[in-house]
Amino acid sequence: MLESSVSGTRLEPLAPQLTPLMPEFLADIELETAPKAKTLAEREMRTDVLIIGAGPTGLACAIEAQKIGLKVIVLEKGCLVNSLFHYPANMVFFTTPELLEIGDIPFTTAQQKPTREEALEYYRKVAEHYALDVRQYEWVKTVVGEDGDFSITATDRAGRPHDYHTKKVIVATGYYDLSNKLGIPGEELPKVSHYYGEPHPYYDTDVLVIGGKNSAAIAALDLWRHGARVTLVHREAQLHHHVKYWIKPDLENRIKSGEIEAYFNSWVQEIGVDHVVINTPRGPVRLKNDFVLAMIGYHPDYDFLRSMGIELSGQQNRPVCDPVSLESNVKGIYVAGVIVAGSRTNEIFIENGRFHGKQIAADLKLKLKP
Ligand SMILES: Cc1cc2nc3c(=O)[nH]c(=O)nc-3n(C[C@H](O)[C@H](O)[C@H](O)COP(=O)(O)OP(=O)(O)OC[C@H]3O[C@@H](n4cnc5c(N)ncnc54)[C@H](O)[C@@H]3O)c2cc1C
Repeated sequence: MLESSVSGTRLEPLAPQLTPLMPEFLADIELETAPKAKTLAEREMRTDVLIIGAGPTGLACAIEAQKIGLKVIVLEKGCLVNSLFHYPANMVFFTTPELLEIGDIPFTTAQQKPTREEALEYYRKVAEHYALDVRQYEWVKTVVGEDGDFSITATDRAGRPHDYHTKKVIVATGYYDLSNKLGIPGEELPKVSHYYGEPHPYYDTDVLVIGGKNSAAIAALDLWRHGARVTLVHREAQLHHHVKYWIKPDLENRIKSGEIEAYFNSWVQEIGVDHVVINTPRGPVRLKNDFVLAMIGYHPDYDFLRSMGIELSGQQNRPVCDPVSLESNVKGIYVAGVIVAGSRTNEIFIENGRFHGKQIAADLKLKLKP
């Protein structure tokens, strides 16, 4: 067996080539054992419940609806638990594993808190265990129709449309795809990102981290520990009180010692190719800069929700829904997971969003006869 250096997966040695020197009877055996061309099974496009989004919540909803005997299809525009896949490569969850569990499948980890990799493994195994019908790389673009008879169009990786029909819809589309914007000149430069992956590309460069919550704090520390010169800018007077108790003092001590430079009560005024201008209480400061990480949060796709007729309430853009069944103002369309909190994305996490599946399934049980 050979080991692939890229993926670590095992590769079988290459099959020997058939040559004219090979005895005829051996050639026959090879031909007979060659894999037969497979025809793709016709995909079912009609279902009781169609779930949009295969995040932890979407998966929990699928499991609970399946448990009461309903046919369920999950459409996911990326890979399984796509948001978690795009989280920082070396991240460790804040939450202990049992609080991330869905479908009563235990999640055990060697350390107190799971890593991103362990979480990806866990949700893969759960999807496999329940044989969930998750159709990855299918991006839902439109939902039309009415309770009991919805038509949904999704496009695949090649942009080909696929039409589904369903009695009920559960929207569990999360918030990680749309970043909050600074709205300043230079934000569109390629050196600016609203997502932090891993520290290596930033080694020996000047990085500005914008924000004062967990994501900004974690990125600033990780970058500094891997050889970047880090400046932190936050518009408040201090780090947010939500920053975890094991992260906050670490960062505060780095700031106190001058290892990480920090500007509080300050905001970025402009981003240039090689510099940034920060408005500080002492006046504008111009800094040499290679990269900007704007860790200022994310928000649900409000336009997508509105396109289905879901109303959003007041300033916080919470979808109008029954707080118990989570059925929205559009009969037959349910909302689940972090989107239920609108712009208050720190109110619902995996820890509490995972229970939305049970709430919705209880209502589906009353309304659909499995
Ligand atoms: C860095 C970081 C660390 C975190 N740590 C924790 C933690 O320790 N504990 C905790 O409980 N929470 C944590 N959270 C929050 C948690 O990850 C989210 O609250 C959670 O993922 C929300 O789950 P969800 O299923 O509602 O949405 P998501 O996980 O975002 O899933 C939504 C899915 O819908 C898909 N999708 C979106 N639009 C469409 C469409 N039109 N068609 C098809 N698919 C679509 C997306 O690709 C995505 O896979 C963390 C968040 C971040 C950013």
